[in-house]
Amino acid sequence: MCKSENLKLFFDLGETALANSFLKKEELNNPESKYPLRVFFCEDCGLSQLVDVVDPSVLFRNYVYFSSEMPVLPEHFKNYAEEAVNNFVKSKNGLVVEIGSNDGLLLGAIKNLGARVLGVDPAENIAKIANERGVETIPDFFNEKLAKEIKEKYGPAKVMIGNNVVAHIDNHYDLISGVSTLLADGGVFMFEAPYLVDMFENYTFDTIYHEHLSCLSVRPLVNLFKQFGMELFDVKLFPVQGNSIRGYAGKTGQHAISMRIGELLEKEKSMGLNDISTYFKLVDDVDEMRKKVLTILKDLKLQGKKISGYGAPAKGNTLLSYYGIGADILDYVTDETTKINLYTPGTHIPVIDIKDARKNPPDYFLLLAWNYKDAILKKEEDFRKNGGKFIMPVGKVEIL
Ligand SMILES: [Zn+2]
Repeated sequence: MCKSENLKLFFDLGETALANSFLKKEELNNPESKYPLRVFFCEDCGLSQLVDVVDPSVLFRNYVYFSSEMPVLPEHFKNYAEEAVNNFVKSKNGLVVEIGSNDGLLLGAIKNLGARVLGVDPAENIAKIANERGVETIPDFFNEKLAKEIKEKYGPAKVMIGNNVVAHIDNHYDLISGVSTLLADGGVFMFEAPYLVDMFENYTFDTIYHEHLSCLSVRPLVNLFKQFGMELFDVKLFPVQGNSIRGYAGKTGQHAISMRIGELLEKEKSMGLNDISTYFKLVDDVDEMRKKVLTILKDLKLQGKKISGYGAPAKGNTLLSYYGIGADILDYVTDETTKINLYTPGTHIPVIDIKDARKNPPDYFLLLAWNYKDAILKKEEDFRKNGGKFIMPVGKVEIL
């Protein structure tokens, strides 16, 4: 983000399979691609980032993450849509362009509120679904070149949105110059990403995988936008998939700067996020958690207990891989949607339908989808009433 080469390695998660590359049974014997997964800290701007960049066409062209299938999100998106339209689109028929629009869930809600919408998403399979549901979507990667083409055909955008995009893109210069090209005067770029602070407060280290090329904090973002005649004018925190930040940027001088920017910069500084020793401490903490979880799992195995994983999120694969938990420990992991009957990348654990798991439940579920802990505990009340237990694998490691 700042063009510095002054990067220091602080977390090496080893050679790792791609977190979203779930395998079909017939693929299990094929050689599986693995890539180094290492996180570096920029000593100049403080950005936490990967430097081993996997070709995005490998990562995103045939994607298995569908926004509509995620719990919690529809309500979040409805509020998001209202904020975008009521606060920033204002004029009727104003254009909203979303980068990484997935299956059009958010844009669909925005369209219903009367704005013109256009999606851009490189996952052809998902863009097709969005188009079928009436959300016009260009199946491509967003960049400066595409931004010019869109502007010519559709006009400038009052609002641009990039959820889980800024952290997924290697070339921030091409992204933000594209945004600044397409954005109308007075327009707003809204984007969401996991917040680096969350990595320290809630140990969301499992969100480190190849698609997440950086973990954002306010300090490097302020610096990024400055380079494009833009400025970050507000940041809000949201408890979605862990704590996310929603950033708001516009052209320089066109928006009042929120107090929250300074407050969060101060918070990041006071947490030591500008200092690499804080990052080494994080890795030590994760290693402690790993040891605790492995001790619990090995004890349970010795007692002959059946253990499975609850949920098959991409981040679960980082956790399994880094903790060293494989098919010798977990009989299966569960899912409710498209991953059923596939196998986890790297660890090759079968994914089964949660409905089938409920019919013949294990003694323990390792809570891989731990960020939905409360919702899951409630949903699996019957399992727990019958003596079933959950193991919380991060933060405070415990049996629930
Ligand atoms: Zn930097």
